[in-house]
This record gives sequence, C-alpha cells and structure tokens, in this order.
Amino acid sequence: MNSYPQAATIAGIDSGGGAGVNADVKTMQERHVFSATIIVAVTAQNTLGVQDFEPVSIKLINEQFKSLADDLNIRACKTGMLADAAHVHAVAQNLQRYDFGPYTLDPVMVAKGGAHLLSDDAIATVRDELIPLATVVTPNLPETEALTGGKIESEADMQAAGHTLQQLGAKNVVVKGGHGANSQTSSDFVLLENGRSFWLSTPRIATKNTHGTGDTFASCITAELAKGKSVEAAIRLAKAFIQAAIADGIDVGHGHGPTNHWA
Ligand code: PLP
Repeated sequence: MNSYPQAATIAGIDSGGGAGVNADVKTMQERHVFSATIIVAVTAQNTLGVQDFEPVSIKLINEQFKSLADDLNIRACKTGMLADAAHVHAVAQNLQRYDFGPYTLDPVMVAKGGAHLLSDDAIATVRDELIPLATVVTPNLPETEALTGGKIESEADMQAAGHTLQQLGAKNVVVKGGHGANSQTSSDFVLLENGRSFWLSTPRIATKNTHGTGDTFASCITAELAKGKSVEAAIRLAKAFIQAAIADGIDVGHGHGPTNHWA
C-alpha cells in the first residue's frame, strides 16, 4: 500500500509559482508528505511583486476545511497568507472545529516587494486567536515586532520576544533572524515548549532568489511534524532544508526568483 503522511497548507496561492501554497506543495512533496491545500486568497503576482489579490469567500474556506475533514487524514497543518481579520477569524474557528494535528503558524504580513498580505487590523486577530492554537510560530523580525509590540535591535530582544510569543500561547517559537543586520550569518532563536532554547545559525548566501523562503521553512517543519518527528528535529531539519533551497534558488522572471530544492 502506498500511504503517505498527509498535511494541509492554509494560505494564499502565487500565480508566479514561487511563494505561498505553491512553495508549500513543492516542499511537502520533497519531504515525501502528501499536501492538501485550503486556498484563502488568490494573488496576481510574479517575481517582481504582488500586483493584486482577492480573498476567497469565508463560505468556500469553511467548505474546503470540511471537505478535507470528511475524507483525508490530515496529520499536520500550516497557515500562511490570511489576508484580513475576518479570514484569520474563520481559519481560527476551523482549526478548533477539526483536528488537523500540530499547527505551524507562519504569520505572513508583508511580501518582500512591500505588498501587505495581511491587513494591519488583522495583526491583533492573529495574536489573539491563532497564536494560542500554534504548535510552532515562525515570525521574521518585522512580524515579531508587530506581534509583540517591541523593537528588535539585538539578540537579547529576539530572546525576549520569543518568550513573549510563548506567553501569548504559542507552544514553540522560532524568531527568524534573516532580516537582521548581520551580513555574515542568519541566526534564528528557537524556544521550545519545555523552556529549552537555542540558536540556529547559517552563513548568509549572496543571492536575489529568496522568494518563498518563509513559506518553504514553515512547510518543511509541517511536513516533518506530519511524519511524527519532534518539534526540535523538525525545526533543525527545516533550517538545513531552507539553507540548501536558498543556495539552489533559480532565475525565474526578472526579480526575486524562488528558492528551490531538487529532491
Ligand atoms: N505570496 C504569498 C501567497 C505568500 O504566502 C507569501 C509569503 O508568505 C508571499 C507572496 C511573499 O513572499 P516573499 O516575501 O518571499 O516574496
């Protein structure tokens, strides 16, 4: 019997193919996990930026959740682009209604080109309704600042913000340092449910092809959790996976090409 662990991504789809659900499906496939997709928003996008997007109706989001719950055996899930407060709220309700296993929250807010993929008034909804449900939350530095309300200017600030996010209800936290000032290394602060913490550091790679980096990292964690790996093992593996995927990023289009990982 050919049976694979099953995971779901709940996010936006990228017409340009590099980020969002597209990156999630590719990553999960590469990790040998079957991926189901709940589309929250459709973007008109390419490697130069996000030109437009529209969220899918809440009714259709509810129906997509029900379709998966009625038939598949989802063992882990993740959320990415969620568009606005009403959609964040609908997703939070569905995550409580159905058991889709460990939940990785990638609190996507602003795309590299500056497009707001989450409305500003939805940040509080993410903090209040999704963070308490999260097995793992994976904010970058601007997202960490938005969720915790404090400036991040040092490694000590990252550690303090990690603890704040845990107090807000996330079981495990990865504060991603990729947007930090250090030109040599990219260091993420990891705080686990049992209170243990550590840093994961990798050398920076000089490339413009970094589109979909956050999605790939979070979906790799989700795939490993669907296989039953521990949170720590999933995070460590995802850090190595995203490093390789940045190194293998490809020139597609005229802007930021996608990260890539040939199996
Ligand atoms: N589009 C969608 C649907 C996304 O989910 C994301 C990020 O999560 C982006 C675009 C932005 O990707 P990036 O900032 O890597 O260009």
